[in-house]
Amino acid sequence: MARKFFVGGNFKMNGTISSIKEIVDNLNKAQLDPNVETVIAPPALYLLLVREHAKKEIGVAAQNVFDKPNGAFTGEISVHQLKDSGIDWVILGHSERRTNLAESDEVVASKTKYATENGLNVIWCCGESLEQREAGKTLEVIAAQLAALKSQISDWSRIVIAYEPIWAIGTGKVATTEQAQEVHASIRAWLAKEVSQKVADETRILYGGSVSEKNCKDLSKEKDIDGFLVGGASLKPAFVDIINSKV
Ligand code: PGA
Repeated sequence: MARKFFVGGNFKMNGTISSIKEIVDNLNKAQLDPNVETVIAPPALYLLLVREHAKKEIGVAAQNVFDKPNGAFTGEISVHQLKDSGIDWVILGHSERRTNLAESDEVVASKTKYATENGLNVIWCCGESLEQREAGKTLEVIAAQLAALKSQISDWSRIVIAYEPIWAIGTGKVATTEQAQEVHASIRAWLAKEVSQKVADETRILYGGSVSEKNCKDLSKEKDIDGFLVGGASLKPAFVDIINSKV
């Protein structure tokens, strides 16, 4: 089965009602490649607004979800509440949450398990720090993150993997096509060995970290790069060019 190219827009903690409406209007008007799955992730407060305004071809993702059904968890949002609101996706394991909110591999895996078992699709993020890359530990770090995920989940069909080197996020320092392809190929090889050839063949692996309308075309040509998770550039009109970048 061919892997459908996937482009996610992670708005992070940016935007207002009016700026987010503007972004959505721009996407609604644009001719988006029908062979690309597009999903945008506004801050939680604006999820319903975006779901109501965006055309149905555009998916909507939360930037976090909790791993309990409901109850006394102040500040959290449940999988069921997202689904009730027409939100089909969630980003989990983003390095900003791993770092700023001390979310461990185990917590991320537990949330991913709960979300996927309850019908939500997950953009699961992994990636190494600059220090880890310079120490030659990139593949080891990612294999450990994947192993923590594997220990809790059995159904990979609702998971899209986003490889996001931490040193490339928001820095303007994009990984080279070779650096990205090397890690993507190693993630796919890990899936083939540790899970199954079918999961390795079918799972989409996105690249994230300073993706722009300028560098996306070259990255999209790499054989194991199945799309992007875009931060800063997803807030700009040029996001359309990134969505339409697959040649
Ligand atoms: P960036 O962020 O595109 O602004 O580097 C990517 C991300 O954090 O998902």
